[in-house]
Amino acid sequence: MTSPARTGSALTDGSARTGFSRVGGDVALDLLNTVASRLAADGGRDLLEGYADVVAWCRACEIVDLAEAAALLAAADRAPLDAAAELVRVRDLREMSYEAVMSGDGPAGAQLAASYREAVGEETLVRRDGAWRWQASELGLATPRHRLAHAVTRLLTSERLGLVYQCEDETCGRVFLDTSPRRNRVWCAADTCGNRNRVRRHYYRRRQS
Ligand SMILES: [Zn+2]
Repeated sequence: MTSPARTGSALTDGSARTGFSRVGGDVALDLLNTVASRLAADGGRDLLEGYADVVAWCRACEIVDLAEAAALLAAADRAPLDAAAELVRVRDLREMSYEAVMSGDGPAGAQLAASYREAVGEETLVRRDGAWRWQASELGLATPRHRLAHAVTRLLTSERLGLVYQCEDETCGRVFLDTSPRRNRVWCAADTCGNRNRVRRHYYRRRQS
């Protein structure tokens, strides 16, 4: 999804501060980036290992507020099996979203439409601060996933989808919105993939000379 003319990025990862990468530029892409080293031979590492990770990530991305996060964690403690099942659904939503963003067609569209319909089915339109917005009638374990379904379909149906690129690192696999003026961002983050690949290229150049 990238062109050879692309150059480095001044952006930094940010994961050292929050524990989760926010390089995507859109929460839907940050969701896809919760698999670290997605393109590695072993499939990378899932950062959403438990439902508590989903809540922590949603908090870091401001998908839930502090009180909602506390309520969700308490609900997960009360119903661990339900929380485990919900974790699987969040991961499924993430992977079908990745497929939809990266390959453009296939069954992912129908699955995402179903996720979106489920989300809206649980919500009602309320007016607050002069604008209408979807709001869950009741906070539940599925609330993060429902909000994510909104975020993903919002990106998929917007022109910003054309700005989505994947980091050129061999294994990283992170995706991001390239909003740089020349549309030439190569790496997800300068302080991780950018540095690593610059060092590697320098090493190869020295070996060749
Ligand atoms: Zn990267």
